[in-house]
Amino acid sequence: MTRLPTLYVTHGAPTLIIDDCPARDFLAGLGKQLPRPSAIVCVSPHWEAPRAVVSAAPKPETIHDFMGFPKALYEQRYPAPGAPTLAGRISGLLHKAGISCIVDPLRGFDHGAWVPLKLMYPAADIPALQISVQTPLGPAHHIALGKALAPLREEGVLILGSGSATHNLRDFRGASAVGDPPKPYVKPFDDWLVKTVEAGDAEALADYERAPEAARNHPTAEHFLPIFVPFGAALAAGEAKGRTLHRSTTFGIIAMTAFAWG
Ligand code: ZN
Repeated sequence: MTRLPTLYVTHGAPTLIIDDCPARDFLAGLGKQLPRPSAIVCVSPHWEAPRAVVSAAPKPETIHDFMGFPKALYEQRYPAPGAPTLAGRISGLLHKAGISCIVDPLRGFDHGAWVPLKLMYPAADIPALQISVQTPLGPAHHIALGKALAPLREEGVLILGSGSATHNLRDFRGASAVGDPPKPYVKPFDDWLVKTVEAGDAEALADYERAPEAARNHPTAEHFLPIFVPFGAALAAGEAKGRTLHRSTTFGIIAMTAFAWG
């Protein structure tokens, strides 16, 4: 099995799947740059739960977990197979690491997962599953979760955190356009993030709430926390230093930054 890097990508607005922008082009080319995964484990902020839940549906449905968007978005499907056996394996790995976990046999793919997966792997022929985010448990929990998943990399499994480098939807306006210039508070946090990830500074990354303009860019934590899962999996292999794969912004508020480790 080929060992894959771990990834953090920004999934942006649900319209990323149809918006003409550099971040969409980036994700559409990303799958081809990597060895083919045997399966994909995606952590999405659009599935929050008090403890880790692993999806195990054999044929996950596509969840359209957004309202008021164009009809074309509700017609999108991502019919990739699930990975029930892998879900059971992950449950075992998490329990072994002392992380409370349950398996959900019905859960489908939310847009935090299917938007990037459909762009990266449009053939939808690689088994995939999701793990929920435990927002109140913060960075350390998600790093531990990532570390617990690290052995899967040796089996060709892609560990993918899907979130948002910056995410202040309170500043999203109905009239915002995908190509709007970034708000002044976006770049200071995004610059800090790139520097910190590339330096592999685990302590500073986990302490992101002290970063420049952190509160403004992440008034809630759930869209940032998925970064700690691929980061944790890389840390377990001594690969703390990440590489920046992409930078752009959409709607003036979402830095579409993406990273790889290993
Ligand atoms: Zn989102």
